Amino acid sequence: MSNLTSLTLKVALDGLADKSFSSVELTQAHVEAVEAARALNAFVLETPDKALEMAKAADERRARGEAGALEGAPLGVKDLFCTEGVRSTACSNILKPFVPTYESTVTANLWRDGAVMLGKLNMDEFAMGSSNETSAFGPVVNPWRRQGANAPLTPGGSSGGSAAAVAAELCLGATATDTGGSIRQPAAFTGTVGIKPTYGRCSRWGVVAFASSLDQAGPIARTVEDAAILLKSMAGHDPKDSTSLDVETPDFPSFVGKSVKGLRIGVPREYRVDGMPAEIEALWEKGIAWLKDAGCEVVEVSLPHTKYALPAYYIVAPAEASSNLARYDGMRYGLRVDGANLTETYENTRAEGFGTEVKRRILIGTYVLSAGYYDAYYLKALKVRRRIADDFEQAFGKVDALLTPTAPSAAFGLGENADDPIAMYLNDIFTVTVNLAGLPGMSLPAGVDANGLPLGLQLIGRALDEGTLFSLGGALEKAADFKGRPQRWW
Ligand code: GLN
Repeated sequence: MSNLTSLTLKVALDGLADKSFSSVELTQAHVEAVEAARALNAFVLETPDKALEMAKAADERRARGEAGALEGAPLGVKDLFCTEGVRSTACSNILKPFVPTYESTVTANLWRDGAVMLGKLNMDEFAMGSSNETSAFGPVVNPWRRQGANAPLTPGGSSGGSAAAVAAELCLGATATDTGGSIRQPAAFTGTVGIKPTYGRCSRWGVVAFASSLDQAGPIARTVEDAAILLKSMAGHDPKDSTSLDVETPDFPSFVGKSVKGLRIGVPREYRVDGMPAEIEALWEKGIAWLKDAGCEVVEVSLPHTKYALPAYYIVAPAEASSNLARYDGMRYGLRVDGANLTETYENTRAEGFGTEVKRRILIGTYVLSAGYYDAYYLKALKVRRRIADDFEQAFGKVDALLTPTAPSAAFGLGENADDPIAMYLNDIFTVTVNLAGLPGMSLPAGVDANGLPLGLQLIGRALDEGTLFSLGGALEKAADFKGRPQRWW
């Protein structure tokens, strides 16, 4: 039954419901797919025994007529989510020995609904990166390759393992997180669908913190409908996270397939950046045409502070990270490297435990928060952030959603940008604005470049209006008719 791994989550759930196959069969097929795909390095921990145990329990619940919304569906979990009794490392050496005694709210919600955990997925260390190359477990290899070439490509980051595993059909969907683009850019690089919901839609409790005012969990899946099914389970108010919104979770799947006729779509002028590949421009134009064909009205809008978004993000995010990561001192979690005294133990632990990019962020963050520079950098960045949010608010006075490219390029080669942090940071140019403003953003595959690599389009919505994104995403998905899957080489 090898084709069980090619099913969409929706079709797999239907198959489980009509007893075409059991969760144990479905899970076994995925466990085998995971084992056969170790060359991708997508999983940093495989939990086949746990998966089969959960699958068996799911089959039993279904037999008793107690099936949840995800009953029996095998998923992957980004290693940023704490999973009770299962090693959770944020792909950092400093957390390598860490086994949480608690479960993140988002994953607990998935298990409540009957999902099955296949294992933990690779990612950039502490979710800092755009290529999965900062992981203490080594990079993930994108299942996609350029046509006629074997050079290994990045799946994007930081949720590179999640995106690669979903694209390579190792799991039916995966959890991911997005602080500046880490769901959407990997989705774009792997031909998958990813949505970062409104800030506060998913609980951050039990998710290792990077930049708390920006971090949001969301799903990566193979279709818009699958993403909607997953987000519905993941979302919901949680009193354990003070920034979790006390709002009803809409029935997201019911928005997929709804007419988008009459919706007004904005195309932000400032996202036409210099040096953007012509293919991405062309795809954006196609997206506009598809939405027009579906009955939308497309207008140009202006988001004048866009050019300040990346600099503001690379102040706010490191500032929060430097504070959040202060807790890794060798005393409470994970790694400890003893020194002659307490200070030396701190120093040794942090020097050995953190990778270069994480250290760079801690240094930047500490600098911009220091007494002499706080006003000039951090406070200024917060003011820019407000302006960016105001730009969106103005635009959403005129339009219902925005359409942009997701990333300024297709997947690049492993190693290509690894030594150039600025080049790496530029990956986030179209995505960070959305985090700074706390809005929902979705990436979906819309076409391929000249090398046959997938390209993504991004939809940005009003706060709490993921529903409209699912409707528009559904319409674009139908028009784009993207059927591409990576050629299996692993
Ligand atoms: N690439 C961005 C960064 O390195 C975003 C990462 C993320 O969203 N977690 O900060």
